Amino acid sequence: MLPLYLEKLNPYELSVRAEFLKKLSEECRLCPNECAVNRLSGETGNCQSSYEVMISSYGPHFGEEPELVGLYGSGTIFFTNCNLSCVYCQNYDISQLGVGHKISIEELADIMISLQRRGCHNINLVTPTHFVPQIVEALLIAIEKGLEIPLVYNCGGYESVETLKMLENIIDIYMPDIKYSDNEIAERLSGIKNYWDVVRAAVKEMHRQVGDLHIDRMGIAKRGLLVRHLVLPNNLSGSQKVIDFIADEISKDTYLNIMDQYHPAFNAGKYNDLNRRITTDEYDKVINYAISRGLRRGFS
Ligand code: SF4
Repeated sequence: MLPLYLEKLNPYELSVRAEFLKKLSEECRLCPNECAVNRLSGETGNCQSSYEVMISSYGPHFGEEPELVGLYGSGTIFFTNCNLSCVYCQNYDISQLGVGHKISIEELADIMISLQRRGCHNINLVTPTHFVPQIVEALLIAIEKGLEIPLVYNCGGYESVETLKMLENIIDIYMPDIKYSDNEIAERLSGIKNYWDVVRAAVKEMHRQVGDLHIDRMGIAKRGLLVRHLVLPNNLSGSQKVIDFIADEISKDTYLNIMDQYHPAFNAGKYNDLNRRITTDEYDKVINYAISRGLRRGFS
C-alpha cells in the first residue's frame, strides 16, 4: 500500500494546498483558537509560534503503539509549542516553555528523509497543528528526494475541519487524543473553548478521510484512525462519554488506546482534583465500559 500522498496527489495539488494553508497563517485560523495574528510577519498567538518552524527533537521512537513502532521505530518529529495549554502536560518543557530550535523547511524535509533511511516505519508528526503549512511544503521537497513512508498526524484533537480538509490524501494515519468530554473542564485544564464540540467534528472528519486503522501482515499500521484517551483522576476525562461517542458515531472497530500513565506534572499540583495518579479501579472501569460498548481494538 502506497502512502496517500503518492497514491492520490501530484506535486501541483500539494503546492496549491501548501499555499492555501500559508494564507490561513496570515490571519491565523489554522486551529480553532482562531487567533487572527499574522504569523508570516512574526506575530504569535496562543501557540506562541511565528511562521518559522521549531522542533525539539527527532529520531526513531519506541514508546509509541506497537503498530507504529514495528522493528525499527516510529520516526517522530517533536514540534515545539502547542495550540493547547494543558496544566498537567507531561512534555511541558517542549509544549509550554518553548524548548527547541528553529529549522528551515528544507531541513524539515531532510529530517523526514533521514528518518526513512534509518528504517522508521512512518513519519510521526508530534503536535503538528500550528506548523501544518510548513509540513506540507516540506513534504513536496521530501517526496522529490524519495519519501515513501506513511505520515502520522499525532495531535491533541483541537483541530479545525477546514485545515483537516487540506490534509486529505496527505495524512495516512490520524492519531488524535480525545482528552475530555466536557467543554468547561477542557477550558479549565487546557485553556481552550468548545473542546468537546471541536474534537467530535475533527475526529469525524479524520475518520471520513482514512477510515478504521489498517494494519498489514507484518503488524505495521499503514492507514486509518488511532484514538488516544488518557484517563484522568476523578473522571475529569469524562471517559464514558468519549467511549459512547466512538462506539456510536465513529466505529466499533476504532483502535482506541486507553492510557493509564497519568501522573501529576507541570502545574497539576495546583489542582486538587489532578494531584494524584489514577487508581486501578478507575482504569478498570473505563476498560470494562469500553468492552461493554463493543470496542475491542487498542487496549487489553
Ligand atoms: S495555530 Fe497558533 S496562532 Fe494559529 S489559530 Fe492556532 S493557536 Fe492561534
